[in-house]
Amino acid sequence: LKKHKIILVVTILIILLAGFGVQTYITGIWSSWVDYRSPLSGFVVAGDDWSSSAIGNRVIIILIDGARPDVVDEYSSKGVYQFIRQNGVLFSNAYAVTPTYSVPARAAISTGLPHELSGVSSNWYDAGTLEIPSIFSLAHNRGLYVAAIGDGSIETLFGDYLDVYIEIEEKEGHMYDSINAAIELLDSNNPPNLLWIGLADVDHYGHLYGAKSSEYKSAVEEAGTLIEDFIQFLMDKNIFDDTLLVVVSDHGHLDRGGHGGEEEVVKRIYLGLVGGGVKQNLEIVESVYQMSIAPTILAYLGLSPNLIAYSPPLHKAFMDEYQEIFSRYSSRLIEIYLDALYYLMQEYDIDPILYQDKLDQVLEYKNLISNSILNKDFVQALNYSSHAYSNLEDIYGEIRNSIITRTSAIRYSLISVIGVISVLLLYISYKLLLGRQLIIPFTSAVIISAVFWTMFIGLFGYSTSMSAINVLEDYITAVMFSTLLAVIIGAVVASIWLRKILMYVDKWFIIVSVYLITILIAMIILSIPTMIMIFQYGYKVIFPFPNWTIGYLYYTSVLSIMFMMLFNWIIAVILVVFLYKK
Ligand SMILES: [Zn+2]
Repeated sequence: LKKHKIILVVTILIILLAGFGVQTYITGIWSSWVDYRSPLSGFVVAGDDWSSSAIGNRVIIILIDGARPDVVDEYSSKGVYQFIRQNGVLFSNAYAVTPTYSVPARAAISTGLPHELSGVSSNWYDAGTLEIPSIFSLAHNRGLYVAAIGDGSIETLFGDYLDVYIEIEEKEGHMYDSINAAIELLDSNNPPNLLWIGLADVDHYGHLYGAKSSEYKSAVEEAGTLIEDFIQFLMDKNIFDDTLLVVVSDHGHLDRGGHGGEEEVVKRIYLGLVGGGVKQNLEIVESVYQMSIAPTILAYLGLSPNLIAYSPPLHKAFMDEYQEIFSRYSSRLIEIYLDALYYLMQEYDIDPILYQDKLDQVLEYKNLISNSILNKDFVQALNYSSHAYSNLEDIYGEIRNSIITRTSAIRYSLISVIGVISVLLLYISYKLLLGRQLIIPFTSAVIISAVFWTMFIGLFGYSTSMSAINVLEDYITAVMFSTLLAVIIGAVVASIWLRKILMYVDKWFIIVSVYLITILIAMIILSIPTMIMIFQYGYKVIFPFPNWTIGYLYYTSVLSIMFMMLFNWIIAVILVVFLYKK
């Protein structure tokens, strides 16, 4: 009798300690995500030998944080939204890349690279100014006047290249103050050539009240009015005609508020261009990504295409006389993209011969583009360059896949070993401990896992999407309480059942056995997303990125396992309380 009591107390302590061990593991996963480094950070782009005429003198990017295009559409006859429809180009199928967070989106907009190549993978990025070329670094290095207003993330990511940064406190009226600061800056003798204006209110109300709320909607409307007034100022000041205005959002919002995941309403962004050289009254319906914005801006300012630009520039938004600039620009971008792919293949020990056909095709397109440019057939040149781009994207996709699959054999064996050990443990429990009564802890473990996910999704309202991790503390609390409730309910069910059929003489023996087996099986069931993640991608966030939905479920399941280990004593206590007097 005494022996079993000692075993119980010792196991509780061991599992508790192991729970703290899992906490270290979780911290490791978290840092692998937020401290992620781009494999291209050591990639030095070719020298600045670009000479092209600029389309205009100035680019102003106005970021309406978190504005959902379908909500913007409700105001399409108002403010800047109407102005862009009539006097500019609207991209009605523009997309952000996942995870759909603000800071990675700013990096994608400014570098032309998706998150796994820009190196900015989360909102918690704090590794200082980005090494990868960006619109800010290239403009700054060319001696242009670069400024940003009201967007701390731009300071974090590109601080070294900003000549001026004006902080606007993120409280009510942020939009109004930011636009006013911009007007003041542009009203001087020396207005900036590249200006970023961040408007935070829409996202703020999105998080507080959701995208269906009147607060969110009126912030969208107000942004439209403020930007329209701003355009009026540019016209009065006579600088509208040599300025490109990019009005864009970084991501959308869920109806109930939140973003980060892969939901359509979260991935869709607003994107409109207006200003000197831009076509009028045009809606472009083909899908474009936020990575197309950086090369568009650089081509507009006549700056060298020294970024990799994962997506081609938005040349269709510009008047015919500028298609030559975009043809030459795209052609150079293709070269740099190709260089970057060779660099990646070298870094990851991949033989280019595997993609020889597609690489040859790209080179062939390169020749066709050059010939078309010589013949002044720029429409054809840009046509070929879009083919070249889709080939490059294919090759990039295949490189990703080959990196992901090549270590899968090791991961598969690891998972198999864990599987065999689990089955063995269950068999031992069956033979030595409980026999047919194994059904009791088994049921209780199934209940624990089911209650956990039901609580987490049903009660706390977390979907199976990354959009949940907006307020980190709330999310962790939800996982903790769901686990706590699951553990209590699972243990109570096991105890009541055992009370009815208790047949062992040694009560303490059955308490220890049921307690142990419940935890073991619950851990196996809860770790299913963990196994899927480790099997498919490994246990850390590395290049190339995992599927974020699986990654998020993985993180959630490891968290719930940790809490179950920390709460493991509750199962024992409930069993003892229920069975002690029987
Ligand atoms: Zn947000």
